[in-house]
Amino acid sequence: MKKIIVILYGPPGAGKGTQANLLADKLGLIHFDTGKFLEAIVHDPARQKEKVIRRERGFFDGGQLMTPSFVTREVLRGAERISRAGWGLIFSGSPRTMHEAEHEYPVFEKLFGKKNIFIFVLDVPPAYSMRRNSARKVCKACGYLLIASLYPKKDPKVCPVCGGPFYKRSLDKPEVIKIRLVEYKKRTFPIYEFARKKGYRVIHLDATPAPYKVMDKIYGHIQKTGRN
Ligand SMILES: [Zn+2]
Repeated sequence: MKKIIVILYGPPGAGKGTQANLLADKLGLIHFDTGKFLEAIVHDPARQKEKVIRRERGFFDGGQLMTPSFVTREVLRGAERISRAGWGLIFSGSPRTMHEAEHEYPVFEKLFGKKNIFIFVLDVPPAYSMRRNSARKVCKACGYLLIASLYPKKDPKVCPVCGGPFYKRSLDKPEVIKIRLVEYKKRTFPIYEFARKKGYRVIHLDATPAPYKVMDKIYGHIQKTGRN
């Protein structure tokens, strides 16, 4: 398969991370988890002498937004490295601000070619976001994300993958999800408009069916376009 880049957007609870993992396996792509990537950078012991890193670490650990120009620079560095190594990429929820979009899309285009960039929006109604996120648990050890509604046991105590303990992320609390929904609309909707104007195809999908069905739909779109 040729080198492609897949970008998944959608409100909290739409299943972006789950889809990114499923598709990364299926298509042989690297899941570029921007949050985890940035966390690793600001916590990198070798870079603690950099003033910028210490400042951004403060933002990250305090739950504040990091500086867009910093995010853009680091993400592009990472993406270029992966691309040079011969791999395609899949992003979940990023580039998420206009600043990031305006600076990152042109570089993606240079690295992969416009027709190899696929943008999908996973649509779910707000009530669904609330329900799905408040039921969410994450494994402390391996990061496995439990979707309780799909699991046979009502309230599993340990991770079915590695047996590790679960925790609830603070960003999955109902009052925080409400804020994240507003933020999503404000910050990410303009990116769809921007991408369309630049000639990208932005494909909206109903993401309420089971994750494997949503994945099949995305996969189908990519296959169909790839053959043309
Ligand atoms: Zn686990």
